[in-house]
Amino acid sequence: MGGNGESNENQAGRHQEVGHKSLLQSDALYQYILETSVYPKEPEAMKELREVTAKHPWHVLVLYIQNIMTTSADEGQFLNMLLKLINAKNTMEIGVYTGYSLLATALALPDDGKILAMDINRENYELGLPIIRKAGVAHKIDFREGPALPLLDQMIQDGNHNGTFDFIFVDADKDNYINYHKRLIDLVKIGGVIGYDNTLWNGSVVAPPDAPLRKYVRYYRDFVLELNKALAADPRIEICQLPVGDGITLCRRIT
Ligand code: SAM
Ligand code: CA
Repeated sequence: MGGNGESNENQAGRHQEVGHKSLLQSDALYQYILETSVYPKEPEAMKELREVTAKHPWHVLVLYIQNIMTTSADEGQFLNMLLKLINAKNTMEIGVYTGYSLLATALALPDDGKILAMDINRENYELGLPIIRKAGVAHKIDFREGPALPLLDQMIQDGNHNGTFDFIFVDADKDNYINYHKRLIDLVKIGGVIGYDNTLWNGSVVAPPDAPLRKYVRYYRDFVLELNKALAADPRIEICQLPVGDGITLCRRIT
C-alpha cells in the first residue's frame, strides 16, 4: 500500500472526467469563444452598453471592478438564450448595475413581457437606460430603487405575487442570497427558474484557508459556500451549476 494506497484513497472521491477543462483551461480559449460565438452575435445595443459601462468612472479608477460588476458577454448571451428557451414572460432581477443582464433579459422577452428590476443605486441604471430605451425595450422594465429584501417581504405580504415569476436573476449582495432564496422560492412559479450569479466566487470556493484573497473576496466567500451547500440540500429545487461567467447556479422549483 504505502504512498500509493494513500493517494488512491485521496483520489477516491475525485471526478474521473477528462473534458471539464475544455472551457476554462486558457484565456486564449475563452477569447476564442468570445470572438467566434459571442461578439459576432451580440446585439448592437448590448455591445454599446458594454462599451459605456467600460468607461464608467468606477472602472476607469479601478479597472478590475469591471469584471466584478458587469455580466460578461458570454453570460449575457446565455441568459438571453435561456429566457427564450423557457418562454419567460414575467421576470425579476436583483442587482442591475448599468443594466447589461437587464438588457439581455429585456431583449429576450416578448413585447408584453415584464421585468421587476431592483437596485440600491439608480444612477448606474440611468447610465445604461438611454441605450435600453433606444433598443425599444424600456417599457418592459419596472425599476425599483432600494434594498431588495424589504421589497420582497412586501410582495410576500401582499400575497399577489406568489408563484408568478418565470425567471429570477440574483446578482447583488452575496451575503443576502440565502435570505433572498427564502423569499424567492415562494415568488417563482413551480417549473420556473432562479439563477444565482457568482456561485464560484472568483474560484475562491476551493481556495485553501491561507490563500491570499482580496478582502471582499474573502468576506463574501463564506456566504457563497453556505449558499451552494444550502441549494444542493434544498428538496424544493433541482439545480444546475454552470461555469459561465463567475459561475451561475440555476434552480428549478419543483414543489
Ligand atoms: N447584473 C448586473 C450587470 O449585468 O451589470 C451587475 C450587478 S452588480 C454585480 C451588483 C449590484 O447589486 C450593484 O449594482 C449594487 O448596487 C446592487 N446591490 C447591492 N446590494 C443590494 C441590495 N441590498 N438590494 C438591491 N441591490 C443591491
Ligand atoms: Ca455577477
